[in-house]
Amino acid sequence: MAAYRPEPDRDSREWWARVGRHEFAVQECDTCGVARFPARAFCPACRTEAWHWRATEPEGSVESWIVNHQPFLPGLQVPYLVVMIRLTTVPDCLVYGGWRGARTPERGERVRAAYRETDDGLTLVDWEPLPEPR
Ligand SMILES: [Zn+2]
Repeated sequence: MAAYRPEPDRDSREWWARVGRHEFAVQECDTCGVARFPARAFCPACRTEAWHWRATEPEGSVESWIVNHQPFLPGLQVPYLVVMIRLTTVPDCLVYGGWRGARTPERGERVRAAYRETDDGLTLVDWEPLPEPR
């Protein structure tokens, strides 16, 4: 199943390098503490440039999702799902990625990151449902 295939750029290159080592992190502003994703050079809240990586447990809940019917990039199979995830440990930070589930996501359901290696050497972050607690 093909999925969402982003392109690392200047701001996100280190994030992708971390994902390649199966490390999940978001950026956190040194000045105001706001966490952000995807990686960018300055804080959208206070516009300062000082920040650090905050290693984060790659778990969260489904906030929303979209179904793409257009192959924005060569090689994508359509339709495919992109989910927006609210991180458990950084609830003010939404991240997105592919969906790894046999069915449509449900809003609020618990998910965990699942790393996926592409043929051309990039590691992607998918999100898969966690088993329901019993
Ligand atoms: Zn800030």
